[in-house]
Amino acid sequence: MRGWLLWRLRPAAIAYVLTVQAVALVLIALVVGVSREPRPEELLSFVMLAATSGAVIVITSVSINVKRQIRRNPWTLHIAYLAAGILLLPPNLLVLLLLGPTLHGVLDGRPELHRWLFTTAATTIATLSARFAIGWEVPGWTAAQFVLTGAILLLVRALLVAIGIRLRNPEAPRQHVLGEPIDVLLGIVAASLGGLLAVAMSHEPTSALLAGPPMVLLDLASQLPQWRRSAQHDAKTGLANLAHWERLARTELARARARDQAVSLLLLDLDHFKRVNDELGHLAGDTVLAAVAMMLRSSVRREDVVGRFGGEEFVVLLPGTDSEPACAVADRIRRSTAALSVPARDTEGELRELNDLTVSIGVATTTRFGYQITDLIIAADAALLAAKSAGRNAVTLA
Ligand code: GH3
Ligand code: MG
Ligand code: MG
Repeated sequence: MRGWLLWRLRPAAIAYVLTVQAVALVLIALVVGVSREPRPEELLSFVMLAATSGAVIVITSVSINVKRQIRRNPWTLHIAYLAAGILLLPPNLLVLLLLGPTLHGVLDGRPELHRWLFTTAATTIATLSARFAIGWEVPGWTAAQFVLTGAILLLVRALLVAIGIRLRNPEAPRQHVLGEPIDVLLGIVAASLGGLLAVAMSHEPTSALLAGPPMVLLDLASQLPQWRRSAQHDAKTGLANLAHWERLARTELARARARDQAVSLLLLDLDHFKRVNDELGHLAGDTVLAAVAMMLRSSVRREDVVGRFGGEEFVVLLPGTDSEPACAVADRIRRSTAALSVPARDTEGELRELNDLTVSIGVATTTRFGYQITDLIIAADAALLAAKSAGRNAVTLA
């Protein structure tokens, strides 16, 4: 327990995680303490729902393992059958259904089990709140109560998790905290599938089996956002990779051309980067690249498009920016790079502070070179070469 990663969090985050878990445990104890015994048809519904969901989880886990893929987010699946459970089962069986996600996390050998248990606790609170809202003993089945079930389950859960992420890392980007629109959509689809499942099972409990294939599909579909993110971003720096950056840049250039606005492109190349690798090792080099990427992101506006061009080269597209302000931005980046101090471990494992980095930057603008991305890159590259020839740690305008 002492080695748990939980204890490495900030104190406010630890207190929050423990509180959410304590509240979930108290709620579970209350539910188990005060609930009546389930009726046979409720037990049958529970068995059908748990068996179908369990089978789906096993099938998708096996298929993901066979393909040696990494399953990132099995929560969409859990949301689907929990939504059905809220509408169908008495509270004590609903609590038993929550063992599904708990066991999944424990048996899966999650590297950060405390995160999984926290999300399970948040889901427990959201599930029981939704049940409370639509009727504790006998849930209401009006259209409004169906919507309310999904809304409370998703929103309370998202809110509790978002607060946790913020406390854990106050600088976490907004899409990490709130999820992307596709994550929200997947949650809505899961809750709707749960509602349909409840309606079908209220007529015939064995119809849970029919939900198996759509649940498998939903589980596989819920991996798509993660696959898309990894296809579009560079793992080392988290920036857009070149292919994704080019797509974004083309869109911005087309928009700017239609509005007759200037766009500038910065091409950056770290100076003598080979020396960092040679002196401290490639892992230290990677740490520096990640630090430069973070500095770049925070040096420009949200609408500016930052990407990793290749090795130790980066690109930034500045929409609505002509050469003079673009050179000012480039010079600010140049000075921020020189001011960077990056802690990194050398090949001996010693922690070293790296602080004499410099960067050369070539700047090209549409005013002079037009709106074709290739023309802008060629021009910026020539300017970058000129900056290198002029002695590095410099900004040159094409
Ligand atoms: P210059 O000032 O002329 O740009 O010198 P430089 O050493 O930066 O230039 P060069 O292009 O010769 O070397 C780039 C180096 O960047 C070579 C390579 O080892 C390193 N590099 C490229 N990609 C990565 C990476 O992903 N990680 C690490 N650690 N190093 C990388
Ligand atoms: Mg280079
Ligand atoms: Mg270089």
